[in-house]
Amino acid sequence: MFPTEFKFGGHVYNIKVIDVLDAEDELNDTLDNGLVMHSKKKVRIKAQDRDVMGRVLLHELIHICNRFAGIGLDEDNTHRLDSTLYAMFKDNPQLIDGVFGE
Ligand SMILES: [Zn+2]
Repeated sequence: MFPTEFKFGGHVYNIKVIDVLDAEDELNDTLDNGLVMHSKKKVRIKAQDRDVMGRVLLHELIHICNRFAGIGLDEDNTHRLDSTLYAMFKDNPQLIDGVFGE
């Protein structure tokens, strides 16, 4: 099941999967596959192939981490990170348990 929210930096972010990003959602990211509204703590993901949605969500999470940590990643670097991290964790789910497990 696709997540609907997450906590980060003392805030709860809402995740919504939508068929079409409308004007209110300020189309501007990931070739219009998703976006994060930092001030509203909202993430929007365009409904499509599940693997693509996962990668797009990871992309938006990287944007949030980048903003929080002040790393200064540009869009190209964010894309490079989302694709490589997605491949790493998709092929090796045990790494998630290894990092966050008990
Ligand atoms: Zn982006």
